[in-house]
Order: sequence, then C-alpha cells, then structure tokens
Amino acid sequence: MKIYLIQHIRSPWPSRFLFEDAKLASMTEISIGGILIEHPEGFVLVDNGMGLMGTEYSDQVMTAADGYKIVVSSLIQSLGEKIPLVKTLMRDEIIEFVDRIKIPFRIRPSVAAQLKSQGISLDDIKHVVFTHLHYDHVGDVSKYQRARIWVSQREMRAAQSPLAFLNGYNPLIAQWDYRTERILDPLVIRPEISPFSIVKDLFGDERILILSTPGHTPGSLSVLVKGDEHQYFLCGDSCYCRESYRDDRSPGRLGFYGFDHNPRLAQSTRQKILKWEQSQPDLQVLPMHDINVWTDDQIFPRPWSGKR
Ligand SMILES: [Zn+2]
Repeated sequence: MKIYLIQHIRSPWPSRFLFEDAKLASMTEISIGGILIEHPEGFVLVDNGMGLMGTEYSDQVMTAADGYKIVVSSLIQSLGEKIPLVKTLMRDEIIEFVDRIKIPFRIRPSVAAQLKSQGISLDDIKHVVFTHLHYDHVGDVSKYQRARIWVSQREMRAAQSPLAFLNGYNPLIAQWDYRTERILDPLVIRPEISPFSIVKDLFGDERILILSTPGHTPGSLSVLVKGDEHQYFLCGDSCYCRESYRDDRSPGRLGFYGFDHNPRLAQSTRQKILKWEQSQPDLQVLPMHDINVWTDDQIFPRPWSGKR
C-alpha cells in the first residue's frame, strides 16, 4: 500500500505560531495539502488542503505578499466583509510587512485538480478523513461526490458553533449538508497497535485505522496506515512538525488565540507519539505541515519513500 503527499501550498508562516519559543520576527516554511492512500479496495484521502474558494491555480510561484493577499481574500469571501478582524489583515502596513518576507509562496492546483490530472477519477475516492476541520485542511469537499466523509462529532460541533471562525474554522462548515459519518467517542484501545483509541477500521482489515488524538482541536483524528514495509502515522496537526514532539515544542499564540485548543492534552498526545515512535522502528510520523517531510522529491505523483 502506497501513500502520496499532495501539496497544495508551500508558504512562509510566522515561526511563533508553530513554536512558542521561536523568535518573534522569524518565518518558517510550511506545506498545506492532503495525503492519498492507495488501498486495494479504493483510495482514501486524508485532508484536502485549502479550497481557495474553488479557484484552480496552475503551479505558480509568487511573492509572500501576493500569496498572502490571495489567501486573505478567500477568507474575506467566506467570512463576509462584516467581520472587522479579517479586514484588518489587508491593511497596508501588514501587506508591507509581508512584502519583506523573502521566502516565496507557491500555489499548486487544488488536491482534487492534481488527482484528476494524474488520471484518478474523484469518484474513485471511497473515503475522505478529516483530521480536523480547520480552514487549511478541509478545502472543497463537494468534489468527492462518492466518498464517505469521516469527521469527529466533537469536531463538527466545535466547527459549527457561532464564533468558530475565531478558532480557525471555515464558517462555511456551519452550512455543511454533506453525508458525513460522525465519529463518536473513542471506542477501543489496543496497546499492541497504538497508544491511541481506535475509532474506526476503514476497510475492516486493520490496514487503515482512524485514531483519536485530541488536543490540537477538540476532535482531532489521525490515521494509521499499515503499509507492507512501514507503518505511516498521519497525525494532522497533532504535531505541526516532527520537532514538535521530538523536542517537546508547543505551538504559540496569536493574541487570545492559542494554536492548540487544549495545550495540556495536546502535549500529552505529542508525548505519546514520541514514545510510540521510539518503540516502533517501522513507524513513520507524517505531520501535515512539516516542510522537511513534504520535500519536493517526496510529493505527488511520486509515492512517499522518506525516512524518519
Ligand atoms: Zn493546519
């Protein structure tokens, strides 16, 4: 069973958001996208990048400021202009600041468009699993008409609460009417498989398991893939990068907003990941944003062949 990292965006991001101990003005490159799993019975997609409001980009490299403007205008479109907080993100002084960031911003076609261009029909995606429902993971799920959509019930509730946009959720989720399979509370802990509760065995063969890894958001999920040679642990944002759990680095804050919903629980999840990695030599942990995992030679259409 192979897995493929489908990168949608590569962009600079304030290091402080990823790690609370980072220097204030420094920037770190991150990746945004989704991961495709090729199971013998069909494809599974884990997360879907950003929708950018349905706009399909060909592969474009631009300045950080131009990329920033595209992302913020898509935010404004989905939030509506009435929310002053978002409009301030487009103020001249902020754009000037972003303009000084010398790391280029790269937008590739959406995850769905990349699948299509490699000859994969979107109707062949059997399952879409959302590790959580933050803006940069959900994209436009309406493209996957035949898929069962897996989300945590707790996560859905958090995403549909009135002020959810302040916590990183796309407000359009409040109007979702997709056929989602809402996962309830954790079901089974089987320590010989993982330190986390197994909430769903997707194909009933123990090869693709959805695990409960709360902390980053109330209903964060991860996916464990039992490949032929390796186990892949797709941990979403339970850790932003491998340093997050290997060096015990917590994400930062933006004013009143903490990048982990429950910092203590998130830290205990990261500590479990570290212990688990140390005890399983074939386990490869794949954080969704770690640019050292999503290197150019490891992304779609090449299968992931990286190391720990
Ligand atoms: Zn994220």
